[in-house]
This record gives sequence, structure tokens and C-alpha cells, in this order.
Amino acid sequence: MNPGPSREAEVLVVGGGLIGACMAFTLRQAGYAVTVLDADLPGAAWRAGAGLLSPDAEGLTPGTPLGVCAAESLRQWPDFARQLEGASGLSVHYREGVRCRQPDGTWAVTPGEAQLHPPSVVRAARQGLPLHTERVLHVQSRAGRVLLNTDQGTWPARAVVLAAGAWSAAFGLPVTPVQGQALLLALDGSADAAAYAGRRRGSGARAYTLTRPDGVYVGATVRHSASVQPDPQARRWLLAAAGRFGLDGASGAATLVGLRPGTPDGRPIVAPHPVHAGVVVATGHGRHGALLAPWTARRVLGLVERALAGSARPPRERVSVAQGAR
Ligand SMILES: Cc1cc2nc3c(=O)[nH]c(=O)nc-3n(C[C@H](O)[C@H](O)[C@H](O)COP(=O)(O)OP(=O)(O)OC[C@H]3O[C@@H](n4cnc5c(N)ncnc54)[C@H](O)[C@@H]3O)c2cc1C
Repeated sequence: MNPGPSREAEVLVVGGGLIGACMAFTLRQAGYAVTVLDADLPGAAWRAGAGLLSPDAEGLTPGTPLGVCAAESLRQWPDFARQLEGASGLSVHYREGVRCRQPDGTWAVTPGEAQLHPPSVVRAARQGLPLHTERVLHVQSRAGRVLLNTDQGTWPARAVVLAAGAWSAAFGLPVTPVQGQALLLALDGSADAAAYAGRRRGSGARAYTLTRPDGVYVGATVRHSASVQPDPQARRWLLAAAGRFGLDGASGAATLVGLRPGTPDGRPIVAPHPVHAGVVVATGHGRHGALLAPWTARRVLGLVERALAGSARPPRERVSVAQGAR
């Protein structure tokens, strides 16, 4: 297919998941003409993510590079949620304060934590954006433009942001899939939903529950695998965890499977692409994509501005996954 004028974009975002959709939203709010290409792949992490915004529970130590980014992003979330909801008219179910099970069995609200509903965030961020269901196969930079080849044709753009999550290795990035599995229990109206909101650590492995608009979520396993098929052993572990939380009827729960984008040092890559001029990378958020979305979106905005001004240069060395932490 020959590229026609309608297939030309100022900024193309590859991947419309948690990171790609939030970035595209921020770029559009800043006045850029943004188009999103998303292949709608099974195993996209945003469909399975819990939505906890909890740097402490995730062991993101304050003062470390990633801890600083996480704290900044957590501060940005209330305003970001308001912007998403105001622009789309859709709720993202952002809620401050996560109830946490204490060692004595009582519940207490952990200050400085929050939760949201990842699929609702993606829906709100995508609202009104041109989004095409295409799989990007190849990227190249030529004469001040970036060309994307997809399974349906070619897209020229002035700048491109790669946010392909666990599939980012296709673009030369050091990202590997880390499977996560969770349960989603339908809640009947009589259940005390609030009683299930929280998290706790138990017998070496960590499980948590939280109440969401679509039911009670029990999460989550971590397995170095690219499979998007539910793992029976993981389901048994989750059912046992649900039982410890006193959740009845868990055996009928739906299974969610998602692929987190992992990096060798566990830190995201938010930087100019090491090879292609005009291409910005935002991937490798592992377990923290929901938490880090506003921080990533703001940082990508700056990188895209530089790319469009022609000042983005590939770094001299391999991409430092700590780029964003400075
Ligand atoms: C079980 C589980 C629980 C989690 N819980 C939390 C949590 O509580 N808090 C938190 O902060 N994070 C959590 N996460 C992590 C979070 O979901 C991820 O970090 C986040 O979704 C990553 O966003 P992303 O946009 O990079 O990837 P994704 O959300 O996976 O989106 C990537 C998108 O790119 C598209 N794509 C891929 N390749 C191409 C291509 N070549 N062309 C076009 N489109 C393409 C896919 O279709 C997909 O829609 C959890 C994840 C899992 C799996």
C-alpha cells in the first residue's frame, strides 16, 4: 500500500497500552497531532494490571533513582487523573488510600498509596485519539523523517514514540516479557467490597486483593515467560491466596494474564532510541507502568519536543535504563 496523505502523522505512537495511551494523551494536550498504532495483542499488560500505586509495597526505596521517579509520578497522579477524566468524560477510578491488612488481622489505610483501574485509564486516554489496529514491524529514519512499516502499509511521521511494552525487543531494545497472572472475582451486591481492598505479605510469596469497579482482584504472580496462556499452578496459588483473604466463590473467578515489560536492571527505558533519530523509547516499566505513567508521559513530551526540533541525537553509549532517573 502506498502511503497517502491520510497516513502521515506529526507524532506516531507505537503501542496504545498504559504507557503509550497516557503519552499520546499528554502529547495531544500539548497540541501535537498524534496517531496511535496498536496491534491489540493478547497478553497486553494493561488488561491484566491491578492498578496499585504503591512505591512502598513495590520496594521502591525513597531517594534511589527509581524511587524518586515513583514519588514524583505518585504526586502527579491526582492531577493527571482529573485531566484524563475532564477530557474524556470517563472515570479512571483513581482513589487515594489503600487499605492494608495488618499482622494482627486488622485493616488500616496506608497513607501515600492509591489505586486506579488500568483498563479505564487506557480507555480514557485513548478517547478521541486516532487509533489504528496495525502491528508495526519495522522502523527506519531517513532524511529527517521516520518511516514505520506495518502489517498494513507504511506510515511516515516527524517523530515516533515506541511504547510496545513486552514486545519492545522487536525494536532492538533490551526488554523481555515477564508473565503476571491474577484472578478477577465478580462481586454480588451483598458483598462487603471494602473489606477486600488491601494487600498483605504472606509466607514468603506476596499476594494482595483490591476492589475495583469490575470486581475483586487477587494478584499477582511473576514468571519469566512469554506465554499468554493461564498457568494452572499459578491459579492454584492465587486461589489459596484468595482463601486466606476470606474470599468465597473464588473458584469461578476469571483468570487474567499479562506480560510485563522487564529490563535487565528493572528500570524503565525512557530515552531517545540508540540508533534511530527522531525516535523516542518509553518501555520496560515492569511492575510499575501504572505508577510511572504520568512521569513517563511528561518526560516523553520533552524528548519529543527535542526530536521535533532536530536536537535529539542517539546517545553515544547503549541506552542507559536509568536515563529517566536523573
Ligand atoms: C498481573 C499484573 C499486575 C500489575 N499490577 C500493577 C500495579 O498494581 N501497578 C503498576 O504500576 N503496574 C502494574 N502492572 C504493570 C503494568 O501493567 C505495566 O507496567 C504496564 O501495562 C506497561 O505498559 P506498556 O504500555 O509499556 O505495555 P502494555 O500495557 O502491555 O501495552 C503495550 C501495547 O503495545 C501494543 N503493541 C506491542 N507491540 C506492538 C507493535 N509491534 N505494533 C503495534 N502495537 C504493539 C500491544 O498491543 C499493547 O496494547 C501489572 C502488570 C501485570 C501483568
